Amino acid sequence: LSDRLTQTFKNLRTKGRLSEADIDATIREIRRALLDADVAVSVVREFTGAVRERALSSEVSGALNPAQQVVKIVNEELVGILGGETRTLRFSKNPPTVIMLAGLQGAGKTTLAGKLALSLREQGHTPLLVAADLQRPNAVTQLGVVAERAGAPVFAPHPGNQGAETDTVIGDPVAVARDGVAHARAKQHDVVIIDTAGRLGIDELLMRQASDIRDATNPDEVLFVIDAMIGQDAVATAKAFEEGVDFTGVVLSKLDGDARGGAALSVAKVTGRPILFASTGEKLTDFEVFHPDRMASRILDMGDVLTLIEQAEKAFDAEQAQIMADKVASGKDFTLADFLVQMQQLRSMGSMKKMLGMLPGMGQMREAIDNFDEREVDRVEAIVRSMTPAERENPKLINGSRRARIAKGSGTTTTDVNQLLERFENAQKMMRQMARGGGMPGMPGMGG
Ligand code: GDP
Ligand code: MG
Repeated sequence: LSDRLTQTFKNLRTKGRLSEADIDATIREIRRALLDADVAVSVVREFTGAVRERALSSEVSGALNPAQQVVKIVNEELVGILGGETRTLRFSKNPPTVIMLAGLQGAGKTTLAGKLALSLREQGHTPLLVAADLQRPNAVTQLGVVAERAGAPVFAPHPGNQGAETDTVIGDPVAVARDGVAHARAKQHDVVIIDTAGRLGIDELLMRQASDIRDATNPDEVLFVIDAMIGQDAVATAKAFEEGVDFTGVVLSKLDGDARGGAALSVAKVTGRPILFASTGEKLTDFEVFHPDRMASRILDMGDVLTLIEQAEKAFDAEQAQIMADKVASGKDFTLADFLVQMQQLRSMGSMKKMLGMLPGMGQMREAIDNFDEREVDRVEAIVRSMTPAERENPKLINGSRRARIAKGSGTTTTDVNQLLERFENAQKMMRQMARGGGMPGMPGMGG
């Protein structure tokens, strides 16, 4: 993440509200981050427009932490475009399920065929691989090797191109594909994966062959495989395949490389098709279900931004603690109202939990936050809200009948009320000690 973006978020943090100028400054940096990630220019424009609109709307105004909210909007928009929830393979009610692979040469189709076969076998399926790339030199042999590694049989009635010339048309890939499906049905394979030929660039012949194979086999899924490193060409390639063959889903390959994955956003935005899998290496096990949320953080480098938010939160807590400490030191006592403010701070950390949950590498932080029970905060809040202002200022007033009234009003039990008052007293004692010792209080109250 650029230092400038980092700085922008820092600047935002210090303000209570987002001004239009603030938002535009942030948008500029987000635009830069997206372009760095190789998201197509047109997609970047649309995306930042949507984020700006949302940021300007009331959602952000009056925010406790504007930076957190902007990141949340950016993240939500990204995840939304990348597909929201993960979509899995659709299986035919009437086996075999036919999966056809399409994409440019070198995109990773043949490798994916092996990865899919292995993963499907592990799930108890009996996939058959069909060698319908008769064009790329040694493509049939390559599929054979991959199939053997995956422990799946391969249907390859034609030796394919065994020379070095890619452009010669050899045999009939459409017939191979059609026969492959028939073979699978006869031999009771429940899934057929058809490997097809790709070209270095988009061309008519490639598209026609692919659409002929599609028409001949009526696939349940046509997976468009695209190299994550393709960069700005992603849009043109995806559009060409959408028009030429059409596809039901996308597989992003070579995500183990340096690419930040902007192609994912471009393809998803332009075609509206879900991304199903990510290929992350040459080994057959380097294969995973695509996670829109993880991809969003990768594209924007959200890990850094969230670390920043975390720091901002800490700074905010320290600030609040200092205000509290000053208050105590000045002789004014720590009240239930103050206690409630602390509870609400805990709640804002609870929503942090959800965001952090989407990120890789935030395990420790997540664990710490997991220990807060949001429902408990709800309960405490309900109880304090059921007290009169006088009771909040002076909890000693709260006798038995008041306790019963508060419990009833807050939908809790008198035991809950008693526990809360006890915890509050402990917290108050601690605050007094802190005031005497001059130290900075932490977050009392959740000790139980
Ligand atoms: P196809 O022409 O679309 O069938 O592509 P291939 O499956 O033959 O892959 C082309 C090259 O990319 C091969 O050398 C593969 O080993 C490699 N490859 C495929 N998928 C990945 C991946 O996810 N990561 C990396 N690093 N290499 C890959
Ligand atoms: Mg191939």
